[in-house]
Amino acid sequence: MIRGAAGLRIAVIGGGIVGLACADELVRAGHDVSVFDPSPAGGATRAAAGMLAPGGEAWFGEEALLALGLDSLSRWPGFAADLEQRSGRHVDLRQDGALLVGGDRDDLTELLRAAAFLERSGVRADELDRPALRRLEPSISGRAAGGVRLPDDRHVDPRRVASALLAVLGERVLRARARPVADGVVLGGGDGVHVPADVIVLATGHAGLRHVRPVRGEVVRVRSCDAPTRVLRATWHGERVYVVPRSDGELVIGATEEEHPATPQTSATSDGPLPTVGGVARLLDTARALLPGIDTADVVEVMARDRPGSPDNGPLIGPLDRQGPARLLVAGGHYRGGVLLAPVTAAALRAHVDGLEVPATARCFTPDRFKYPTHHRNEDPCT
Ligand SMILES: Cc1cc2nc3c(=O)[nH]c(=O)nc-3n(C[C@H](O)[C@H](O)[C@H](O)COP(=O)(O)OP(=O)(O)OC[C@H]3O[C@@H](n4cnc5c(N)ncnc54)[C@H](O)[C@@H]3O)c2cc1C
Repeated sequence: MIRGAAGLRIAVIGGGIVGLACADELVRAGHDVSVFDPSPAGGATRAAAGMLAPGGEAWFGEEALLALGLDSLSRWPGFAADLEQRSGRHVDLRQDGALLVGGDRDDLTELLRAAAFLERSGVRADELDRPALRRLEPSISGRAAGGVRLPDDRHVDPRRVASALLAVLGERVLRARARPVADGVVLGGGDGVHVPADVIVLATGHAGLRHVRPVRGEVVRVRSCDAPTRVLRATWHGERVYVVPRSDGELVIGATEEEHPATPQTSATSDGPLPTVGGVARLLDTARALLPGIDTADVVEVMARDRPGSPDNGPLIGPLDRQGPARLLVAGGHYRGGVLLAPVTAAALRAHVDGLEVPATARCFTPDRFKYPTHHRNEDPCT
């Protein structure tokens, strides 16, 4: 491992957006950090649309997760500016808000219920009738029933963020699979190289973390001459779709969501899982109904990856109980919000490592909340 200032030797296993953001924060705190990943930023980070949307994602019963998301959203401008300055790379953080769109009256009723919940939680959410919606985004179908504007949502390009983090971490990132042992990590399979560490951080996404399960998501990237300028999140006759515009003209259309215990129907290659015909067809059908102009768009990429889902949809950030000289911590289970939550996770993880005050919004997301069998999916971890 590269020796840093008088810091701890820290091994981060997993170089997705969460592991990389934590590693960067720990390096800046003066620690001696190495990241191990055979394919850095090749997991869920590679598929992510990059919506920084606590408002768009929030749901009833998840107030603590909404507060964590709002905290992280407020950190994003500083996080992005600092990373851009140190790496010399642009991460395409955009602050133009998001539109929630309802395809019919039932869809709109559901959206307005969500908007009322957001407003009660302090998130600005402005109702729009059909003409107002189309004035803001003329590419939306004239059949849309109406919508809601979330002016404070943002978005970023996760691939650019990961590439900037990889640039600042440089040779600290090693292309190797690793597993934790009592006093460090072992690389590769079997009797691989042993690397001693004082602290081990598990940031392996959906893989190998207790209480974390894979939830597959498929996305399609297209290029269109008739692209919206803001993030659109639509419910269209009960089907959901979002469209995220990048500054380079690409649109990310996502995402399916499927629980999949490993079955023969779910195929994978060494580059990750394969998208399905049904999933991609549903996404494109709904996206075309929302944005008729994308009919002639060029398809650039179709991809599937597994999100790291937890029993209550919240992340696990903090220490794990275990015997051994090296301390073991986890930063995982970020489910649909790992990009949004990267800055607050890095700050909280660093605070746990250094015994500092953990950000208030992150205190209830320690992994020990799952020790107690009464804790079930969709329960708020702070109540
Ligand atoms: C289709 C889709 C769309 C999404 N859209 C959004 C969005 O708009 N906004 C948002 O905030 N979030 C979004 N997400 C969720 C987000 O991508 C995840 O929450 C986030 O990527 C989790 O980051 P991570 O670093 O924990 O995991 P990952 O990105 O999966 O990274 C885990 C890494 O660990 C490595 N690894 C695993 N095992 C080992 C091992 N033994 N040794 C070494 N390395 C190992 C893997 O190679 C991988 O690189 C989306 C996800 C998907 C799939």
